[in-house]
This record gives sequence, structure tokens and C-alpha cells, in this order.
Amino acid sequence: IGQNSLEVIKNLPDRFRVTCLIAHKNVDLLQTQIAAFKPKTVVVIDPSNAAALKGTLSGSVKVLCGEEGMNEAVARDDIDIVISSLVGFAGLKPTIEAIKHGKTVALANKEILVAAGEIVTRLVRESGARLIPIDSEHSAILQCLAGEESLRIAKLILTASGGPFLNKPKEEFESVTVAEALRHPNWKMGNKITIDSATLMNKGLEVIEAHWLFGLPAGKIEVVIHPQSIIHSMVEFVDGSVKAQLGLPDMKIPIQYALTYPNRSPMNGSRVDFSKLQLLTFFSPDREKFRCLQLAYDALELGGTAPAAMNAANEVAVEAFLQEKITFNRIPEIIDRALTAHNVRLSPDLDHIIETDRSTRAFVRSIL
Ligand code: MG
Repeated sequence: IGQNSLEVIKNLPDRFRVTCLIAHKNVDLLQTQIAAFKPKTVVVIDPSNAAALKGTLSGSVKVLCGEEGMNEAVARDDIDIVISSLVGFAGLKPTIEAIKHGKTVALANKEILVAAGEIVTRLVRESGARLIPIDSEHSAILQCLAGEESLRIAKLILTASGGPFLNKPKEEFESVTVAEALRHPNWKMGNKITIDSATLMNKGLEVIEAHWLFGLPAGKIEVVIHPQSIIHSMVEFVDGSVKAQLGLPDMKIPIQYALTYPNRSPMNGSRVDFSKLQLLTFFSPDREKFRCLQLAYDALELGGTAPAAMNAANEVAVEAFLQEKITFNRIPEIIDRALTAHNVRLSPDLDHIIETDRSTRAFVRSIL
């Protein structure tokens, strides 16, 4: 997301200037980006990598590190828009900091709204910040809702590619390898989200995200499998009319829409060629086979801290699968156990969310 965002910004030099860049530890790439975009501040989350980078730069770029560095950077007065694309729960605090400072937050991280949607949306209202989704499905819905009132929505229809195991029998899930799970048919993404796409947890997280972004109950958010990933999502209105947003699977489109919202700017790139598309297909997801999707709906219905517990269990289970410590079919089993063991607290504050995340991770590690 970060690299695609810089591509978008490079093509709109009159509209945007990069003031700050945040990296985890890839300082080689960061150095190239500093030379190209000339930010005033950079944050390297890993302290030893931050120190290494500092030694190579002239004094004109300020180098911060860690979560503290991120919190300081996103609050700067010379920043209008923060693109939040850290993976997982780790993105929560800096994103909240950006919201508290009234920034426009273009949100690519989904775990933030899943774990703390109630708190985050309340803070957005209180601070006058704007939260604009980058996730392609939510961007599609936002585009379908242009000029519409929320009262006219009958339901949201999130499309899912179905991932690499759409046609694999459930009995074979036990022997799925990490490499197979990382081979997504349509999108090239980070490891965590690619595994989430293979389990359909990604779609489950997006259902919860959609609930908080658009204020609709779980019963009005539907998932449909659409393997071609050309329709990015749809909205059905009260009169039965349906609007869909289409495009090639390229994250630069939703990133640019979030940055220029509610306007559009020209962008070069491939276009949908309807004469070559031939076929768009749709069918219902199998929630028995892809239990993670059902677990996400369950967590949303439970409310309070339940989605935060589900998210934490999923993050630890996915990490364990990526390290080949557990088989693919155990991911939903572990989440189910964590969710069952969790005592849901309704109307949680941020400390409850953080404690839920911590204790659920400990619980999952203990059963692993
Ligand atoms: Mg998505």
C-alpha cells in the first residue's frame, strides 16, 4: 500500500507532497524513497534500523523511531492526510493519534476498525477527522454511495475472490502448504492479508469494517464470491436497484480515490476491456468450509470486545501457520476456541480493547 501510494502521489505532484514516511525496518527502500520524495521526517519502527539510517542521512531529515515516533509524526501540523497501512493491531495507536489530531485518515489497515470500531468511529465524530477507506471493497461502496442517503440503502454486497482454495475440498485443508496459501489468484498483497484471503477471514474482517464505516447491521451486509475481482462491491437500494463499482484489481485506484475524495483525478493504467471480459460469475460463500467468515459474523453479533478477541486470535494463528507451527485447517479452530473462552465486555474503552488483545494472544499461545 505504501509503495502504491507513492506511485499515486508521484503522478499528482501538484496535489500532494510527502512530508513523512514510516517504515518498519526496510531502510534500503526507505533511503530510495527519501531521495525521491524528500520528506522532512521519517520514522523507522525498529530502533536499531532507525539508528543505522540516521548515520547515513544529512541533518535535513528528522529520524524518529518506534510507536512514539509514529505518534509524534502523525500529529504534525504540516500533515493533512495520513495513510494508515500498518498491518494488524499494531496500527491502532498511531491511527487513533492521527484521528485525535483531526487528520484525514485514508485507512488501509482493517484490524483497527475490527478491534476498536466503536471507539474509532466515536473519536472521528468528536475530533472532526475524516476516515476514508482504501480497502477496495469499501472504496467501491463509498463510490456507489456518492449522491445517496444512507436511508435508501437496502444492503451492502461485498465481493470476495474466494482466494486460492475456492475449489479445494475441505478435507485437503489440512495438507495446504504456506506457499500454496500465499499464491493469491488476483491480488499481490502482504503475507498476513493473503492468508486471511485464503481462509476468507479477510472478508469477515471487511464485513466488520463495513459495519463501522457505513453504520449497517450484520444482517444488511452480504458476501458474494466473485472470482474475477472486477466488481469490487455493490450497494442494493430500497427500490431494488443495485449499483456496482468495477475496475481492474489495482490498489492505486482506491488509494487515489481516498486521497482525492470526493473528487477524481486522471490516472494512467490498464482499463477494463469489456469485449475481453466474457464472463463475470457469482455465488454464495460456503461458510462451513470457510469457517472464518462465519466466526467474523458471530463476533460482530456478539459485539463489544468480541471482534478484538477474534482479531487477536487470528493474528497469532496466521503467524503460527506462516511459521509452519500449525496446519491451515487449525486457524478457524483456534479462533473459535479463543472466542468461546473470551468474556465479552460491551461498550469497551481503549484499555479494554488493548487488554483483550493481550490476553487473547496469551491464551492462543498457551493452546499452541
Ligand atoms: Mg479488500
